[in-house]
Amino acid sequence: MISLVCVLATGLVVQGPPPKRPQKPWQWSLGQIREITHTVQPGKNLTPKSWPGKARVAVALSFDLDNETPKLRDNRTSPAVIAQGQYGSRAGLPRVLELLRRHRIPATFFMPAVIAKLYPASVKAVVKAGHEVGIHGWIHERNSKLTEAEERLLMGRALDMLQKVTGKRPVGIRTPSWDFSPHTLKLIQEFGLLYDSSLMADDRPYELLSHGKRTGIVELPVEWILDDYPYFGFSRYAAIRPHIGPEAVLDIWKKEFDGAYKERTLFVLTMHPHIIGHRSRIVILDKLVRYIKRHKRVWFATHEAVARVAKRGISRKVTPSRRPLGR
Ligand SMILES: [Zn+2]
Repeated sequence: MISLVCVLATGLVVQGPPPKRPQKPWQWSLGQIREITHTVQPGKNLTPKSWPGKARVAVALSFDLDNETPKLRDNRTSPAVIAQGQYGSRAGLPRVLELLRRHRIPATFFMPAVIAKLYPASVKAVVKAGHEVGIHGWIHERNSKLTEAEERLLMGRALDMLQKVTGKRPVGIRTPSWDFSPHTLKLIQEFGLLYDSSLMADDRPYELLSHGKRTGIVELPVEWILDDYPYFGFSRYAAIRPHIGPEAVLDIWKKEFDGAYKERTLFVLTMHPHIIGHRSRIVILDKLVRYIKRHKRVWFATHEAVARVAKRGISRKVTPSRRPLGR
C-alpha cells in the first residue's frame, strides 16, 4: 500500500493511512495509478527452449464445464435458461470427450464446484479419460464482487469439493469469467496452486508478479479471440446476435496456432461443452485438431503438464523484484 507522507509546514513528516482514491480517474496521482497497474503484472517469459519430446509448440486445449452456473450466479432461475446450460453435460460433453479420445489428446476441464456435485457422472467421465480437472469457482461467481474473506472461503471450498469428487487436489485455476480481484493472486499463493489461466498480458507462459514481487505462479494466458463464447454466445433480448460462422472462427484459431508454432511457444484454447459441443461447431474443433496434427513437433498437453515445464524457468528462490513491466 502507498503510505501517506505528509510534510507539514513545520518540516515534520507524518505517516498516515493511504489516501482514498478520488472517484474520477483523471484525478488519480501517478502513485495511485501504479498501485492499480502493479497489483498483478507479467514477469519473466517462461517459454522453454523446447517442450518435451523436442516439441516446438505446446497445445493446451481447455473446456470450462460451466453448464447452468453463469445463469445461477446471476440469479436467473427460469427452467428455460437452465435447460440451455444442461446441454453442456448432457449433449456437449460426450461429443467433446469422444473427439479427444479419437485423437488421443489430453485436455483440461475447469469446472465450478457446484457442477461437480450436480453432475458427478460428467466428472467421472472426464477423470476416467485421464484429463485434468481445475477449479473454476464455486458457482461461477465474479471474484471482483466478493470481499477477500468471501473469495478465500469459496476458493477453499471449491478446492476441497473437487478433491473429494475427483480424488486429486487441483493444482490450477481459471477464474470464472476470467475475473480477478485485487486479492485473487494472493489467494492463489495461499492455497499453493501451481498455475492460473485467466489473464491476458501475453501469448506466452509467464510468471506472475504481485506489486513488483515474484510469486512463483505460472500464468498460462487466455484471450477472448481464443474462446468459443464471444463468437457463438446468444442473448435473446440483445440487439447483437451471433454473426460469425464456425468456419470463420476456425480460420482465426488456425492463424493463432500458426503464430504460436512460428514463435515456438504456447497455444491455449478455451471452449465450453454447451457452446462448442453443438453439431455445427464440434466439426471445427475436429478440423482444428487435424490441422494442428499435420505439423511436426507439436506437444498436446494438459495445463498442469505445460505449467510444470514452464515452472522450470522460474529459479527456486522467489525474491522481491522491482523489474518494470515488459522489460
Ligand atoms: Zn466459465
